[in-house]
Amino acid sequence: MADELIRSIDKATLEMLEKAEKEQVSTVFSRADQIKPCPIGVEESCCKICAMGPCRMPRSKKGEEKARMGVCGATVETVVARNFARKIAAGSASHSDHAREVTETFLKAAQGQAQGFTIKDEIKLFEVALDFGIEIEDRSVTDIAIELGQKALEEFGKQHGELTYIRKAPLKRQEIWKKQGVIPRGIDREVVEIMHRTHMGVDQDYVHILEQATRCALADGWGGSMISTDLQDIMFGTPVPVVGTINLGVLKEDEVNIVVHGHEPLLPELLVTASRDPEIKKLAEKAGAKGINLAGMCCSANEVLMRHGIPCAGNFLQQELALVTGAVELMTVDVQCQMQGLQDVAACFHTKLVSTSDRAKIQGATHMEFHPDTGLDTAKKILRLAIENFPNRRGPVQIPDHKEDIVAGFSHETINYLLGGLFRASYRPLNDNIVNGRIRGVAGVVGCNNVRTVHDSAHIAMIKELIKNDVLVLTTGCAAMACGKAGLLTPEAARAFAGEGLAEVCEAVGIPPVLHMGACVDNSRILVAASAMVKEGGLGDDLSDLPVAGAAPEWMSEKALAIGQYFVASGIFTVFGSPWPTLGSDKVTRHLFEEYEEIYKGTWAFEADPVKAAQRMIAHIDTKRKALGLEKARERVLFDMAMRRNLT
Ligand code: SF4
Ligand code: SF4
Repeated sequence: MADELIRSIDKATLEMLEKAEKEQVSTVFSRADQIKPCPIGVEESCCKICAMGPCRMPRSKKGEEKARMGVCGATVETVVARNFARKIAAGSASHSDHAREVTETFLKAAQGQAQGFTIKDEIKLFEVALDFGIEIEDRSVTDIAIELGQKALEEFGKQHGELTYIRKAPLKRQEIWKKQGVIPRGIDREVVEIMHRTHMGVDQDYVHILEQATRCALADGWGGSMISTDLQDIMFGTPVPVVGTINLGVLKEDEVNIVVHGHEPLLPELLVTASRDPEIKKLAEKAGAKGINLAGMCCSANEVLMRHGIPCAGNFLQQELALVTGAVELMTVDVQCQMQGLQDVAACFHTKLVSTSDRAKIQGATHMEFHPDTGLDTAKKILRLAIENFPNRRGPVQIPDHKEDIVAGFSHETINYLLGGLFRASYRPLNDNIVNGRIRGVAGVVGCNNVRTVHDSAHIAMIKELIKNDVLVLTTGCAAMACGKAGLLTPEAARAFAGEGLAEVCEAVGIPPVLHMGACVDNSRILVAASAMVKEGGLGDDLSDLPVAGAAPEWMSEKALAIGQYFVASGIFTVFGSPWPTLGSDKVTRHLFEEYEEIYKGTWAFEADPVKAAQRMIAHIDTKRKALGLEKARERVLFDMAMRRNLT
């Protein structure tokens, strides 16, 4: 392959790409060569929301400045803002619809109607119930859980008032949102209102359109995403650090390989339970396999890895490549991030692709729908189908010999515990180490892979630059998996890659310099962690005072924009890598990149070069440190005896 070196920095990926090319299997990489991005679409200056269009409004050629507008008179600012807001609506809807499915299942579990599900984390149940204002004294776990399920479900359809979790943000942040009028009322309402406002002939002021985009994104971060994280933790257990392995090398030649891919951890949880059933194990042996090997892909991988140590086969751009090994008997997909190309790749091998959500079917795939009341039966059926398929492998199997050890599962609760201990769990040690300068600041680096960048490279270049400069990194989603493959998720990585101060803290606590916090919905954990830092004291009284920054250097999904917008609206400086979806309008871009500082005390930024982007994050962290009066602490001075005497 002529240009394979610029495809990925991951050897397993390159090996499978070579196999795919040899065997003429089409993948996202080969299809990207055939379709170039549309230059007008990439800057979002194209409107197709009514049948008088599509109206294309590219930038004028030099010296030929003309007002750009559509047939209806819509300015390019309106069009770019509408496109941006609609993406945020789609992203928020995706996270929040996932959350709705989790909430409905949670309620059924509480009512004893969800096969295989129980309440595993009672302490978290009580905490979350209190957040929702639910009485817990003298009540049974079942009663509390039922009321919590009902109240959480109401958050989606609420028409007035404020989302409950908004109160988890620092008070000063809540005041900013109140002043701007962007506190979300109900999750669904905010998504619908974006769709209405951006319909032909409705909201025509880009600032006003983007205000609603903020309200909707906050409904995602401090609503849907947070609900799903919390209820999943209560049902499946709050993650604690586990040791796992990652990359395509986790597939096994002599076992039945089942890959769970998608986002909702409901069925994957049951597949874990069912795969441990002795009867299923016996069936696998009867079919000539040594056992069942369950592996994850994309965010489902993060979920089962964090809670059960299930190996992770790879991130977004590796989904088709897992099938190219020829070793996967069955892949389950539910919702989000599953490529339609999967079925064509599966058809080249013996793999069965099984869709499991009532919201997503793929032509050619087998549909076996998950329903909470029969979930465990469905999980067993799926495993049986995989076992039956084991003898049907065609041709030689080729599994790349690449996998890395990782430690994953740093929930907010775990960080609290690891730093402060069981009896004085707190963020104090983290804040103290930020104050004394050992840790310069904290960065949330999250998001997808994008085939238009070199797979995993931007994540790794950015994160290495950050940790080298003593910035502790919190990561989720496919970014977290990239880190795992590059060896950044082990405690040993601190000495190898982190700056002296950060390495010292990591070694003292026994944590990696990059903390894997879960799937994309778990970015809500980063909000909770940042709020805990504010509440601990010493670092200002708002999220925008903290020396923290966010980034998604290889983003591709609309969900990433929703996440970015709620980070920014929460006061966090957030840098995205290529492409940036408002370049069609300087005014809209200026609004997000500069005017947001006045409004939210946090802005968006765009920087295609990941190292430069990291340096901008570090510069921002240093500005915040200076504002807090902490810059002196970074100039560490070694005191000699004469200096010590002068102190007394
Ligand atoms: S809404 Fe206006 S700009 Fe958009 S497609 Fe219709 S006419 Fe064109
Ligand atoms: S990080 Fe992005 S690509 Fe990866 S699973 Fe999440 S949304 Fe999909």
